[in-house]
Amino acid sequence: MTIKLYNTMSRKIEEFKPLIPNQVSFYSCGPTVYWNQHLGNMRTFISNDIIKRMFIENGFKVNHVMNYTDVGHLTSDADEGEDKMEKGAARENKSVWEVAQTYIDSVESDMKDLNLIKPITPRATDYIDEQIDLVKKLEDLGYTYIIPGKGVYYDTSKFADYGLLGGQNLSELRSGIRIDNDGKKNPTDFMLWAFSPKDKKREMEWDSPWGVGFPGWHIECSAMSMKLLGNHFDIHTGGQEHIKVHHSDEIAQSEPIVGKPWVNYWVHFAWLMAKDGKMSKSAGDSLTVPYIKNKGYDPMEFRYLMLLGHYRQPVDFSWVSLDAAANGYKNIVRKVADLIDSQNQNPEKENSKIYEEWNKKILDIVSDNIKTAESLVQVQELLKADDINSATKLKLFEFIDRLLGLQFINRAQKLLDLESVEAPENIKKMALERVAAKAEKDWVRADELRDKIDAAGWNVIDTKDGIKIIKKMA
Ligand code: AMP
Ligand code: ZN
Repeated sequence: MTIKLYNTMSRKIEEFKPLIPNQVSFYSCGPTVYWNQHLGNMRTFISNDIIKRMFIENGFKVNHVMNYTDVGHLTSDADEGEDKMEKGAARENKSVWEVAQTYIDSVESDMKDLNLIKPITPRATDYIDEQIDLVKKLEDLGYTYIIPGKGVYYDTSKFADYGLLGGQNLSELRSGIRIDNDGKKNPTDFMLWAFSPKDKKREMEWDSPWGVGFPGWHIECSAMSMKLLGNHFDIHTGGQEHIKVHHSDEIAQSEPIVGKPWVNYWVHFAWLMAKDGKMSKSAGDSLTVPYIKNKGYDPMEFRYLMLLGHYRQPVDFSWVSLDAAANGYKNIVRKVADLIDSQNQNPEKENSKIYEEWNKKILDIVSDNIKTAESLVQVQELLKADDINSATKLKLFEFIDRLLGLQFINRAQKLLDLESVEAPENIKKMALERVAAKAEKDWVRADELRDKIDAAGWNVIDTKDGIKIIKKMA
């Protein structure tokens, strides 16, 4: 099967050719663990997960690494401003190490809720020696200079291909050799190793050949990816804001050491947008997985909403679109539950020819630059097809769940389990009272009873055969 991905480096959709047959080595820039991760971050993690699942279904062994940045990331990606981890520690009156652990735990719980296959997750602070080693190599090759009192910097004018990933005009980028560059030789130069302030002891600092300090954010990703995936690897991903600075810097500091191309495919994800632009922590957005769960949404409904868009297109987040996705998701779950029910009542045998045909059709679509929305159209077509029996459809849903990670069968089974639970007498009584109130057109009373039933953890559904009382999903 042909796999295609959009490569930011060539600005083209390219056929994927692995470095080692049937294996893919894949690095993703992960969260800076100083605060909760919002739904925008989750969109990026879901995109990584779909790419990974697509490779697995195509028979690849996937080595996926996503780091935790627990040191060195300043509030501006261009090495300016406060240290994000210290900002988190001050906000919560904790040590930076406690803050890191808190938010690693929180993102891991979110990833579990979203059914993400767990990547290998190195922490930057566990790879300090590797980072120092890379800076030493760059120094030996003549790519670095020191700004006294600040740190060791990378001289981007030494790297002819600087900015290629972002298609940036180098002479324009370099034209501003300004006096106010804080000692930098070129505006694009970046910090490899920062010196600790003389008047203050930092919680996170290490000895180095240049003095006590801490690594820059960009060197972390080069060090961890090379250590865990080798000097050359297949895919590097991240949010689109990383193209011009973070990933351009990663290339500049890696290729002089390992040769080029360091990475074969650069894949970037468009953002999830809030009302006023990119969803971001600095904007104070509190849209997180626990928040939507508290509001009664299943994290799978958010995942479904994300898969309705393409990874290279921005998606606007709104409650209206999340509601629509939740309804769409629930409809599919209902239909899958009916398939399970019918298979239980009247077992049939699956048709392997039809299975293969649909499996290929859906996998082809996702392998073609991750067209998840189109694959979901096929999921609807599959449900509608009269000439495919329940057993074959269910087997295809097992595959669809592996590929898209939407847990349709799990939720359908839960729905059936809940439907089989008998409601307690007091709930039944309230439900009957509500039927009577509705018959008398006493809507206020009917709504009041519905809310009471709801608060007790039950739903009353009106069907053509009368009411059904179903336990609500946890
Ligand atoms: P951070 O913790 O901010 O470093 O981000 C972790 C990952 O989420 C990075 O790959 C970012 O590019 C990505 N990201 C941040 N904001 C958004 C957003 N609004 N939409 C999609 N991805 C995002
Ligand atoms: Zn990175």
